Amino acid sequence: MMVRTLELEGFRNYRSFSADFAPGVNVIYGENAQGKTNLLEAVRYLSGAPSHRARSEGELIGFDVPSARICAQLESRGRDFKVEVQLTRGRRRRMTSNGVRLKTAGELSERLHTVLFCPEDLMLIRAGSAERRRFLDQSLCQLRPRYAAALAEYNRLHEHKRRILRDWEEKPSLLDLLPEFNDRMARCGAILIHYRAHFIRKLAQFAAPIHAEFSGEREKMTLSYETVKTVEDPLIPTREIYPRLLEHQESHRRAELESRTCLSGPHKDDLLVSIDGRSAKQFASQGQTRTAALSLKLAERELHQEDMGEWPVLLLDDVLSELDQRRRDFVLRRIRGGQVFITCCEEEALDGLGEGRTFHIRAGALA
Ligand code: ATP
Ligand code: MG
Repeated sequence: MMVRTLELEGFRNYRSFSADFAPGVNVIYGENAQGKTNLLEAVRYLSGAPSHRARSEGELIGFDVPSARICAQLESRGRDFKVEVQLTRGRRRRMTSNGVRLKTAGELSERLHTVLFCPEDLMLIRAGSAERRRFLDQSLCQLRPRYAAALAEYNRLHEHKRRILRDWEEKPSLLDLLPEFNDRMARCGAILIHYRAHFIRKLAQFAAPIHAEFSGEREKMTLSYETVKTVEDPLIPTREIYPRLLEHQESHRRAELESRTCLSGPHKDDLLVSIDGRSAKQFASQGQTRTAALSLKLAERELHQEDMGEWPVLLLDDVLSELDQRRRDFVLRRIRGGQVFITCCEEEALDGLGEGRTFHIRAGALA
């Protein structure tokens, strides 16, 4: 998969931008606040993933313009696509592929998979479980449309159940709806757990050797799926997960009513990252946190490659400057193959990476 060309109009600080990218490494350099991250964000957006920075789509539109356009020529599975997204304030976005209207972000992600590593990803190790669920969800939504559909349905049901639990004392009749919601959430939840468990098992197989080499063979990274006691072995078939989720909900019924919060289900799950058997969240140093987060993303990239038979596009925002020379060399070796976008402040001499291009960005334009 690759982005051959990109045009931006009114996207963040880009008024009118157009570039042809290399199939290999594309280095995007420039001073602070010129638009390097914005460019990566535009590519990421084309893969159907929600922005890692914007809370609403309106934020992606230039401050003093009414609309934004992102247009790209993509190559995916041996075919070319012209994908276009139009964002207008106060309106629904409009997306097309080769002129045909697309309805969902999932349809975008069928054409372009991206793996993003950005400074905020340190939170993947450090923050609460929500960050790690977001990582699992975003990666799985790109790989498995069935997961994306189950997740959307689960989130909808969860929101309804949350409202029932919030309001039941004022409106006791709402409690009649709970069994139906619990059943449907358990059905969707079983699908989520099934996919997450297999994904994490595979991710762990890729992450272990990456992290070992990254840390100079000094550390051992392990990953496991914590299902907050709903199922002990999440690798069992979906039909066996479903009754266990129901049972768990049932045993938490009183606690949920009393706390007025939804305590049972895969929206509580976590991806446990350990280094040498200890929780990275609790014990990793700054450097270990960075290395662990990057190992996870490089493992995600290799997993996507194995799954699809094609490299996803890798977006590395501000990564190299923070690494020592040995780790830098490791990353640059490991990212060979596939298309990569790397941002940095100085024009980098990235030796040995094969054919690539460099782009100097200044104030939302090519310098
Ligand atoms: P750094 O090296 O500091 O990370 P950068 O080149 O990655 O810098 P960006 O994050 O891409 O910088 O942001 C470039 C500029 O775009 C910033 O000054 C930011 O305020 C501006 N910007 C962000 N959103 C919008 C928007 N919606 N409209 C116009 N400008 C915006
Ligand atoms: Mg930046």
